[in-house]
Amino acid sequence: MRNVIIIGSGCAGNTAAIYTARANLKPLVVGGHEAGGQLSLTSLVENFPGFPQGILGPELVENMKQQAEHFGAEYIHGSVIEVDFSKRPFRLLIEDEWHEARTVIIASGASARWLGLPNEKRLIGHGVSSCATCDGFFYRGKKIMVVGGGDSALEEAMFLTRFGSEVALVHRRDQFRASKIMVDRVRQNEKIKPILNSVVEDVYDVEQNLVTGVRLRNLATGETTEREVDGFFVAIGHVPNTAPFAGHIDLDPDGYIVSKGGARTSVEGVFHAGDVQDRVYRQAITASGAGCMAAIEAERYLESAGH
Ligand code: NAP
Repeated sequence: MRNVIIIGSGCAGNTAAIYTARANLKPLVVGGHEAGGQLSLTSLVENFPGFPQGILGPELVENMKQQAEHFGAEYIHGSVIEVDFSKRPFRLLIEDEWHEARTVIIASGASARWLGLPNEKRLIGHGVSSCATCDGFFYRGKKIMVVGGGDSALEEAMFLTRFGSEVALVHRRDQFRASKIMVDRVRQNEKIKPILNSVVEDVYDVEQNLVTGVRLRNLATGETTEREVDGFFVAIGHVPNTAPFAGHIDLDPDGYIVSKGGARTSVEGVFHAGDVQDRVYRQAITASGAGCMAAIEAERYLESAGH
């Protein structure tokens, strides 16, 4: 029987692990299918306080893990397949083994949706990104492309005009899905070049390990063109990793955990941390902050229950 099982090993999960381990709760951390979370997919992180020269994403998240292990946190590979939150202790099926816990912290994150292009994943961190706030700075004076037609894509395109010499905004239909105010802003911004009715067919150049351009196809005419690009931002939405929790805690229509204040979910003793609940900020530092909150709440919950 565990005092706390933490689901996810990104910034939120690792920070919750550091705090609960230092509170002597001996947490078990379930790594998840993307161990290390979104940071493991980025290169240099320049906005996490405490690193004046920046730090590589995978290194930052590995440091957090080591810090938690130093205080007694235990990590296991694998994912949560099923849960039973209907009675105490809570039960979780991790791969093929059931585990029991007095409290659970869900920090399973939200995965960026990708286009599924042949070379896209291989160039993540080398010009392909899903986070303008994280990576925009690297493309000062460069050619940027954003894909997507929702509020996120338009917001990212606007933000990226601070850095890029131009920002091409590629959307598969002739109308943006985003709110009117965002569409108006984008239309008024001379740096943004909308490319409508178009899809990206592939991104180059894996051989150079660097984004150099894309191949576009116009869906109305069928015409294919090549375009030089240095930074390629995919902003077609996120998918919260909450499939095993559906029907066990309250989720909103998009699958994000509904917060009941602080780090609380609809089930007492089950807490949320990070992007699995937060669709607004999605930063390493906010996820870490949320992990800290969840750990403190779990600690207090256990104390009040006399454990
Ligand atoms: P979204 O609204 O679901 O938009 C996703 C966009 O990506 C759509 O334009 C969609 O095209 C496109 N897309 C999806 N799959 C694609 C594919 N395989 N190939 C090419 N394009 C694809 O997602 P979001 O922009 O991340 O926003 C999520 C939610 O957060 C929304 O409710 C949004 O309003 C909200 N949000 C609000 C703000 C704000 O208010 N400041 C900022 C960000 C997000 P189609 O249009 O053709 O479906």
